[in-house]
Amino acid sequence: QGQLFIVATPIGNLGDMVPRAVETLQTVDVIAAEDTRHSSRLLSHFKIKTPMVAYHDHNDGQRTAQLIERLQSGQRVALISDAGTPLISDPGYRLVAEARAAGVVVIPIPGACALIAALSASGLPTDRFQFEGFLPAKQVARQKVLHSLADSTATMLFYEAPHRVVDSLQDIEQVLGGQRRVVLARELSKTFETFIDGAAAEVLSQVTADSNQQRGEMVLMVAGVEPVKRDIDPAAQQLMRLLMPHLP
Ligand code: SAM
Repeated sequence: QGQLFIVATPIGNLGDMVPRAVETLQTVDVIAAEDTRHSSRLLSHFKIKTPMVAYHDHNDGQRTAQLIERLQSGQRVALISDAGTPLISDPGYRLVAEARAAGVVVIPIPGACALIAALSASGLPTDRFQFEGFLPAKQVARQKVLHSLADSTATMLFYEAPHRVVDSLQDIEQVLGGQRRVVLARELSKTFETFIDGAAAEVLSQVTADSNQQRGEMVLMVAGVEPVKRDIDPAAQQLMRLLMPHLP
């Protein structure tokens, strides 16, 4: 029986590649990579000569079937994405689901993941958190998602594209209120790693004023609302939440 390894790779700093990941990628029969050209740099750095095939969830039911066939014939396959942990806002779900359904052993090789790195150093509560992937690109849809999260007491995490961070911060200020605490983690593990922590309105003005803060890769984190105190009337609380975004 074959084995499918889900191998995390660095999110910017090659020093974060774990020895077990290198050893796995060196010894499997084939590496399924999100982008073979992108990953060839990582592989050549670590002197990994294993053949690669391209893998995406969407365009390639056939590729999934071919990989499952290899696994069922006893081969060992590793899945990598461009950066970080595969399947976390990256391809692989279909392959893992089908591999498990086919009785293939699936083995994670843990390593970097931007959301966990960001959360762990954010200073925000970590006991409960909610990962929402990327916020929608269009404002109406983005505000709708934010409205649906307005009452969440868990820390919220989003992956964010640099050209959209100002728009998203504006919507966070508008929908969740300028006082809501936000932490923006940028360029994790790289030279210009930065954390900006403050009320949504402050973070927005800081990021707007400094275009360097609108560059690179980023994780946007938003504090949840304080857990409901029982001695306040729920109707009054609901009214307060509705009014909060409109207060200066
Ligand atoms: N699978 C990856 C992981 O485990 O983190 C995430 C892939 S997702 C397509 C890419 C997004 O992750 C980026 O747009 C950014 O929001 C976040 N990201 C990746 N590397 C990062 C870094 N070094 N610093 C901050 N955010 C990062």
